[in-house]
Amino acid sequence: MKRISLLGATGSIGRQTLAVVREHPDQFAITAFAFGENVEAALPLIREFKPILVSVKNKSVAERIKNELSGRTKIVYGREGMIEAAVHPDSDVLINAVLGSIGLEPTLAAIEAGKTIGLANKETLVTAGHLVMERARQSGAEILPVDSEHSAIFQSLQGQDRSAVSRLILTASGGSFRDRRREELAGVTIADALRHPNWSMGAKITVDSATLMNKGLEVIEAHWLFGMSYDKIDTVIHKESIVHSLVEYTDHSLIAQLGLPSMLVPIQYALTYPKRLELKQTKRLNLEEIGTLHFQKVDKRRFPCLSLAYEAGRTGGSMPTVLNAANEAAVEAFLSGRIAFLDIEPLVEAALEHHQRIKKPDLRAIEETDRLARYFVETEIEKKSRGG
Ligand code: NDP
Ligand code: MG
Repeated sequence: MKRISLLGATGSIGRQTLAVVREHPDQFAITAFAFGENVEAALPLIREFKPILVSVKNKSVAERIKNELSGRTKIVYGREGMIEAAVHPDSDVLINAVLGSIGLEPTLAAIEAGKTIGLANKETLVTAGHLVMERARQSGAEILPVDSEHSAIFQSLQGQDRSAVSRLILTASGGSFRDRRREELAGVTIADALRHPNWSMGAKITVDSATLMNKGLEVIEAHWLFGMSYDKIDTVIHKESIVHSLVEYTDHSLIAQLGLPSMLVPIQYALTYPKRLELKQTKRLNLEEIGTLHFQKVDKRRFPCLSLAYEAGRTGGSMPTVLNAANEAAVEAFLSGRIAFLDIEPLVEAALEHHQRIKKPDLRAIEETDRLARYFVETEIEKKSRGG
């Protein structure tokens, strides 16, 4: 029996993790459960999975759920609460599916505690990949990818000669606006941006897919997870999202993982690795029905965020922290109707230009850089709204 601490339990990945647990009650149990403020979604899940510990965003949410739950569930909140959930002594594995760079500290705490980590929260690796990987090496904690592209690469590396890897190729669906020209994006609405052709995901990552920042974040994530230089990480538009990513070897063999788009598969693989389990709730891929798969070069001018991410990754130091935090702030502003879709990219670019790089930031420097980048974006938005 694998006992799980699940952060972001009410989110898209969180709920799908619970669906995997639900299919295999003899294999998995939920020990600790963290969410933000969606009490309505959380309560039935807490009653169903009966975690020992529940962590929520703040004190007022904690008060709200206290009356609804039996005294046997310990309720904690805030930053400390999420860390307590991540390192719960009765759990074997942490699934980190919280949204954004607030996932960093619980990841670091779980590494220190020697937990195996299934990492969906890519912002953790983008904002502080050097710290996370260094500490994981020191403690021996295993970090397993949940992101579908990275799971595909991880699966394509099994049993292979790692020194013979010549290239990683990340596939990208192209997001909600794949077939539109840049000029056609001027007046797009939030609802338009959230209409992803292949995947049903949380709002932030769906917007990131539409700007291709998601692929940029994933390039940096792949750099850290697999220790590959940026010159050896490529991206390709693949509109069907069937080939989830590929590894090229020195003999020019390409090994890939395929399947219908479903996050249940990578989530379950992170939980069962190196074994596999049946997964009845997913459908079998029928190649004859699919017929044709398409691959297309990414137009970097059409999707400037991808270039920004490569550049921030190559420059390194605190630049990826700024990239991530500025993007989180800009996407949040778009999702709350304060800026237009096409404002996201220039805001991230301006934040990167404004920043003085710190070569090897420690945790405090990362937190400060993250805070300042968000402040910069907010200030720019305010200036613009005042017509400045
Ligand atoms: P969602 O927005 O659907 O869910 C986010 C989760 O984080 C919710 O449970 C939310 O709680 C919780 N949360 C947010 N803020 C806090 C906080 N301050 N304290 C505690 N919990 C908090 O996101 P996704 O599931 O889409 O994405 C989660 C992560 O997984 C992201 O890093 C994303 O990039 C990554 N990922 C997602 C994929 C997908 O298919 N969705 C695919 C690959 C990676 P609440 O809603 O209750 O406030
Ligand atoms: Mg992905």
